[in-house]
Amino acid sequence: MAVKKVVLMTGGAGFLPSHMCDQLIAQGYKVIALDNFITGKKANIAHLLNDKNFTFIKQDVSKPFKVAGRIDYVMHCASPASPIDYLNHPVETLLVGSHGTYNTLELAKAKKAVFLVTSTSEVYGDPMVHPQKETYWGNVNPVGPRSVYDEAKRYAEAMTMAYRRTFKVDTKIVRIFNTYGPRMNINDGRVVPNFIDQALKGRPITIYGDGKQTRSFCYVADEAAGILKLLFSKESGPINIGNPHEFNMIEFAKIVLELTGAKSKLVYEPLPQDDPKQRKPDITLARTRLGWEPRVELKEGLTRTIAWFKENKQ
Ligand code: UDP
Repeated sequence: MAVKKVVLMTGGAGFLPSHMCDQLIAQGYKVIALDNFITGKKANIAHLLNDKNFTFIKQDVSKPFKVAGRIDYVMHCASPASPIDYLNHPVETLLVGSHGTYNTLELAKAKKAVFLVTSTSEVYGDPMVHPQKETYWGNVNPVGPRSVYDEAKRYAEAMTMAYRRTFKVDTKIVRIFNTYGPRMNINDGRVVPNFIDQALKGRPITIYGDGKQTRSFCYVADEAAGILKLLFSKESGPINIGNPHEFNMIEFAKIVLELTGAKSKLVYEPLPQDDPKQRKPDITLARTRLGWEPRVELKEGLTRTIAWFKENKQ
């Protein structure tokens, strides 16, 4: 039997990475997941801990670390990712994007592994171009509160490109757009868990600002599949992976109310500083170069997510 290829994934106990661990193991890979549990959760990987193809190492990858043995792919996914989480952990967020990217690139270089970094639509900031294409350089406030995440990811992209150019590491950059689904942390402050939690508890739905700002939500299984397609492709990116179906927050709240059957009213709260007014990926590159596009429509994905939140009361 052929020897299985090994994927090392930082942030492996996070919401989206844990789904990629599942898909990789189902596709016949061995996975070594690293996490320091700042925002990742053991519960996300509990079902994998006894799998012979899964190894877990508790490690802060912002600090230098070594992993023995063969590694074919390094995926650097570790980072707080929701606005509340990265505002609560500003320095850790900057360090995992900077030192963490350096440490994982060094590992990939030493192991002659393919390297993938999970970047974000936040590199486009409050975008002046809509929908966002990978060629757009973005509109980020470098000293605003969100800069701890945006600039960490921009730096991570720059460092990745430097290793590609200087050391010929086979690198890949994915820009992830808003993703939702089972295993999201109900307390992470993002709009999807907030609205579902509020609806299920019959509490008012909190719309920030006038609710006209838009986002485009991708179901987690689609997002994970797209990122893995990039990992195993010849493409280097940056490449957007997200669902281009765009909604404003009032429309989104109404869909959550419809699917939960809740009668909650909408209440309006202040818009957080530098909150992007619009976001929608142009996924032409993903479609044409990777043959990937999302399959799960918002109502279907939300129905699954609501069912999961009901079963896993947090
Ligand atoms: N938002 C909202 N009510 C909430 C939480 C978020 O209206 O209870 C808005 C937020 O201001 C933003 C959008 O929903 O415009 C998406 O926010 P989220 O934190 O999910 O992610 P972002 O895309 O901003 O990183």
